[in-house]
Formats: sequence, structure tokens, C-alpha cells
Amino acid sequence: MNRTLTDAIPQPIWTVRADGSVAYANPYWRAYTGLTEEASLGDGWATAVHPDDVESIMQRWRVAAETREPYEIEYRFRRADGVYRWHLARVAPITGAEAAEDQWTGTAIDIDDRRHAEQELRASEARYRDVVDYADDIVYTITLEGVVLAVNQAVEHILGYRPKELVGRSIRSVIVPEQVERSFGMLDRKLAGEERSTYEVEVLRKDGCRVTLEINNRLVAAEGRPMVIHGIGRDVSGRRERSRQVELSAKIGVALTDRRPLSGQLDLCTRAIVTYLDAAFARIWTIDDDDPSMLVLRASSGLYTHLDGAHGRVPVGAWKIGRIAAERRPHLSNTVVDDPEVHDREWARREGMVGFAGYPLHIGDRVLGVMALFARQPLGESTLTVLSSIAHAISMGIDRDRAEKAQEALLERERTARNWAQIAERRYRGLFEGVADAILVVDADRRYVDANAAATTLLGYEYDELMQLHVEDVVAKEPDWTRAEFEEFTATGQWQSQLHLRRKDGSTVPVEARATLVNLPDGTVFLSAIRDISERSRLEHLQRDFLAMVTHDLRSPLTAIKGQSQLLKRRSRDNAQVQNALESVLDQVGRMQTLIDDLADVVRLESGEIHLRIKPFDLVDLVHEEIRVLEKQTDRHTFHVETPGGSVAGCWDRQRLGQVLQNLLTNAVKYSPDGGAIVVRLEADEGRVRIVVSDRGVGIPPEHLPQLFQRFYRAEATGAGGLGLGLYITKMLVEAHGGIVTASSSLGEGSTFVVSLPRTPDSATAK
Ligand code: ADP
Repeated sequence: MNRTLTDAIPQPIWTVRADGSVAYANPYWRAYTGLTEEASLGDGWATAVHPDDVESIMQRWRVAAETREPYEIEYRFRRADGVYRWHLARVAPITGAEAAEDQWTGTAIDIDDRRHAEQELRASEARYRDVVDYADDIVYTITLEGVVLAVNQAVEHILGYRPKELVGRSIRSVIVPEQVERSFGMLDRKLAGEERSTYEVEVLRKDGCRVTLEINNRLVAAEGRPMVIHGIGRDVSGRRERSRQVELSAKIGVALTDRRPLSGQLDLCTRAIVTYLDAAFARIWTIDDDDPSMLVLRASSGLYTHLDGAHGRVPVGAWKIGRIAAERRPHLSNTVVDDPEVHDREWARREGMVGFAGYPLHIGDRVLGVMALFARQPLGESTLTVLSSIAHAISMGIDRDRAEKAQEALLERERTARNWAQIAERRYRGLFEGVADAILVVDADRRYVDANAAATTLLGYEYDELMQLHVEDVVAKEPDWTRAEFEEFTATGQWQSQLHLRRKDGSTVPVEARATLVNLPDGTVFLSAIRDISERSRLEHLQRDFLAMVTHDLRSPLTAIKGQSQLLKRRSRDNAQVQNALESVLDQVGRMQTLIDDLADVVRLESGEIHLRIKPFDLVDLVHEEIRVLEKQTDRHTFHVETPGGSVAGCWDRQRLGQVLQNLLTNAVKYSPDGGAIVVRLEADEGRVRIVVSDRGVGIPPEHLPQLFQRFYRAEATGAGGLGLGLYITKMLVEAHGGIVTASSSLGEGSTFVVSLPRTPDSATAK
């Protein structure tokens, strides 16, 4: 190249000698730098270069001088106006014919604008790199085959790998095995033209935990050919975990309110735990209903589902599960293989178990069971939080079930009790309705509260009508009387009386009522058994009327017979035969008169017509008097009187007591057919006297003794007999004096009758 040409080029051109001095600088160079030709030659060039760049130019030159290789270098030229601008200089040795001597040529082009643009770009790239490196998301570039080309710092935080550990590896090694195929399928779709895509993929942390990444990637092409894939992976496990945990809690809630039995509910719980927390298996034990020291496996899901294995029954306090119950503290571990608490670590190693969580199920101090799970991955903090709240929910479920069962048992007992009560009630009803007597039940307000059929029939009311009534509405007496009687009854608890009841139709019915107080749980009631005595009193009336008629109608003819016989006897004193016959007639008339008198007495006594004429007298006198009457009638009996000494005085009806003595002495004679001693002993103290009449006669069979004093009652035919009225009248008369009469006897050896009397009869009893 000749000088003319180089002078004309509008670009700095210069030549350098082997020693580094400038041999030529073209006019453009001189014009640009503002240096004279002279100043530009030799080492004057340095004044046209930025002082900071001189050293690096020198160094580069030295290297080139050694190697004789062309080179490029960037440095700043000073323009004539003093402004430095970046230039790219190309320096090359001159070779061939033109090489007059060992020289180099240099040219420079202004790259100042490009340089600035580049700098700016670098700054922004640095900023971008910061963003990428400090981003929370994983930013990565992979080949179309899935080999990692670049990945940012975030990967260490999210997956536990340092970026350089992953570069060069296939993403296949971090995706969970079961999702590898799907993930590569996504890549294929990308290659097939899908622009952008967002999807979730589960990857494994370096420590084995699963992490869910939300992937967003883009295919990058160069010159129309797909080159690499840029992607961003966001850790959404928290989000996903939380939504799964929320779902799990909901599932547990649903399980515990399901209508199936508790074991079924618990089974749903363990299934949900396995599904939603990725547990290898989950189990729930509850305290045995019959043995509170024993945990019984109630539900098991996942790897093991049988309930009758080695852990089917775990004593509280034994093994890990039993201890969780005994201590009421959860046991958590993410290193089960090294956990001394784990019973069978060999098993855990073999099965690849990593995490264990066991929670006591309890309400306050009350242990209800244990919930436990094993997982093949570590259990994170939030999983444990969820488990603890689930344990609480399940505890409440079990407790509620217990309460419901207890309630059910209680209801069952109540039902049984009610059934029994109903049976008892039916039985009682049957009895109540079955008895012939009318039964009326009255409450404390004297209101009828129950009545049997006999009662409603007797009174002529419907049951419901009767239940509206009070005692006063039915008892045919003064209301005051009823109230007084009722109060007395309430006080004594017993009451018996004969009274008249008024029927619905207004008629009255005589009844004998006997009432008792009954304490029932809901208050005291008065139960009265009522016997209709209208028939009995009708018969009694009839009998009395009959007796009255008989005594009256018999007495008159007898009086006539007696009078006529006495007259005849007086007139036929000389005819011994007639005398004897008349004697016998009069004797029989006498006996008949006694019988009639007895009958008349009975009639009078029963109709209350006998009035005692009480007067003071000496009982000893009366006894002797009566014995004298008897002595005339027998010579086979001897009479003995024993007295306490002196007189036995008192106030009695002399004639009636004479009748009593007469009856007892007559019987003593009558029932001692072989004769013998008859003893009348008088005993007396201040208030009472006792008349004891004993004979050595036939005696009375013991079974007859209780009825002896009843009307018309006669012990076995003992030959000599009367109507069976003597002892009845005796009893009536003694009782009229306020006394009592008793009998004792030994068969074949004689009988003893004892009359015990107050010295002065009560005015009330001496009617
Ligand atoms: P009656 O003598 O008219 O038959 P009572 O009323 O006097 O009637 O006596 C009733 C019954 O008591 C008699 O039938 C008789 O069997 C028995 N009885 C009464 N007194 C005696 C007695 N002293 N010894 C044996 N039996 C007697």
C-alpha cells in the first residue's frame, strides 16, 4: 500500500517499528488527535491514548513482538477536543514485498458507542442474574433431553442440592419415579409445538422428602430449531400440603359423623391419613371397654390392615404405643431406623420407614386410645400440626361414642325396668281388678285416683267420673265426719269402719271398709278395700226379725202351758202319776223358757236394747247364790268357792252377772257327765276382778276354742246340748261390762273359763 492511499483513508492508520516506535501516522490520525506529524512519531503516540490504557497497550505489544501474531486491543484515543473515545485497534506485522523492514501496521475503528451499549447490557445482565439467583423460584435451563444446563441458587433452598450438583444431571433423577413418564410427556408436547405450559410435578429433595413444584416453561429456538428449555419451578408443596391437610381434616370430620359404628368411623380416619399424608400405614387403638389397662387395635390402613396381629392388643405402658397412652405424650421421629423407641428397627430398615408419629387420644386425663402412623418420608412440621388436631378430633369422636353407648345402655336399662314395671303393673292390675272387694285409692287431697271394676260397679260410676270425685262425694256421712276420720287415718295409717256409701243413683250401700296408707314414689295414697255388706246386714235383719217373732210367738203359748200345768198340778195333788207327768211338763217348759229367754236376750243384745242396771254388790254372795241353784239340780257334782278372803265388791249389773255365772256353771255341770268337782275361784286386784270357773269334764277340742263364743256355735255333739247361745250371750254381757271372757281346756281333763271384769264398768261401755 503506498503512502498516497493510506493518507487518504478516513480512519486512523499507523506503522510501528520493531522497537515499538511509531514510524508513520496518517493525516486522519493527526487530525483526530490534533497532534503535529512530528509529535505523532516515535513514542509521541502515548499522549493520544488514555493514561490508564498505556500500560496494557505496551504489554500487549510486547507479547505480539515476541510471537509476531496479529492482535486486537481496545483502548481510548484522545480526540483533538480532549474527549476520549473507545477504539478497537488491529495490529498486524507487515509481510511480503512491502516489508522493507520489520514493521507493523495498526488501524483503529471507533467502537465507543458499541462499548457503551455493551456496558449497559452487562449491567442489566448482572441485575437480571441477581434477580434469578435470589429468586424464590427455581430458574433453570435444560436440554431437550432433560439434562440440566443451568439452575439458580434457589434450588439449594428448595431441593437441598447446590446448583453445580445438578448441572449435567438428568431431571429424571429428581422427579418422583411415578411421575417421570408424565413429565417427559410434557416435554414431548412442548417439542410438538405447545408454546407455554404450566403443570405440577413432584420431585424428591436431597433428603428424600417430596416437594411439589409448579412448572412453567418455554422452548427456546435458535434459527428456527428448538435448542433448550427455560423453566421456572415454584415450590407449591406448602400450598398443596395445606389444601390436602384441609381436605384431610374435612374427611376426618365426615368420618367421625358417619352413621356407621365407631370401628367403621376409625377405619375411614386411618384410610384418610394414609391417603392424604402419604403414610405407609396408620392405626388407631382404643382402650378396651372391659379392661381399661388394654389397648385394642380398632383400625389399620395402608401397608397393614389386619387387626389381630402382634399389635392387636397392647397393654397400656408396654412398647411404644402403650407408653404413648400411659404418658399421654406424642412420640415423633424422622429417623425411625435409629430410634431406640422403635421396637423392630430391622423391619423399619427393610421397609424403608423414615417418619413415625404417635399421638395419645385423650380428653383431659382420660386416655381413650392411641393413633400412630409410619411414613417412608420425613414428616414435616405442618403435617405434625395437622396430626395433632386430628388426634384431638378423633378423641372427641371416641368420647362421644362412649357417651352415646353409655346413654344407650342407660336407656336400655330404663326400657327393661319399664318393661318390668309394666309387667308388674299388669300383674298388679290383674290382681286389683280380680279381687271381689271394691278397691278405691285416694290421694292426700281425698280425691279418688284409682278404682277397680268392682268399685265402679258397686258405686255405679264410670271410672273417669269417679276419678273426678272426693271421698265426701261418696261417703254418706257428714262431710265433717269424713274429714275427722280421714285425719285420724292419716295419723295412724290404719282405719276400719262400717259405713254407707252413696251410689251415683243416690241410693246407699252398707259397706265394711278397711284402709291402709301406701307410700308410693310420687306421694302417699290411701288404699281402701270395701266390702258390700248389704246382703249380710239384710240377713242379720231377717234373723233378728225372725228371732223377735219366734221369742214373742213362743213365749205366749208356753206361758199358757205353764199356767195350766201348774193349775192341774195343784188340783191333782193325790194322783202321784199325774203329779210326776206334770212335773216333767213343767221341767220341759222351764227349759224351753230358758231357751226362749236366751233367744230374746240375743235379739235384745244385738239390737242394743239391753240396758245394764249397775249397782254395787259383793260378788262372793252372788257366786254362792248361783251355786245353790245348781246344787239343787245335781248330786253328782261338788261345788267349791275360792275367794281372796272377805268380799269382792264392785259395781255391776247383778242380774246379768248372775246369768253369766249361771251359764258357765250350767255348762260345767252339763259337760261333766261323770260328775266331779266344780271350782269357782275369785281373784281381785284394785281395778279388776277375775271369775275362774273350772270343771273336770270332757274338755273342748283345741280347734273349737276360737269359735266357742260365736252365736249358735257348738263343739262336737256332746250329748247334752242347747242352741249354742249360752257362751255367746255370756260374752256379750261380759263385754257390756267392759270385760273379757276366755276359755282354755285340755281334752278329757276339763275346761276353765275366765271372766275378767273391771270393778266399775266404764260408763261408756255400760249401755
Ligand atoms: P250349749 O251349751 O247350749 O250348747 P253354749 O254356748 O253354752 O251352748 O256352749 C257352746 C259349746 O261349748 C257347747 O255346745 C259345748 O260343746 C262347749 N262347752 C261349753 N262349756 C263347756 C264346758 N264346761 N266343758 C266342755 N264343753 C263346753
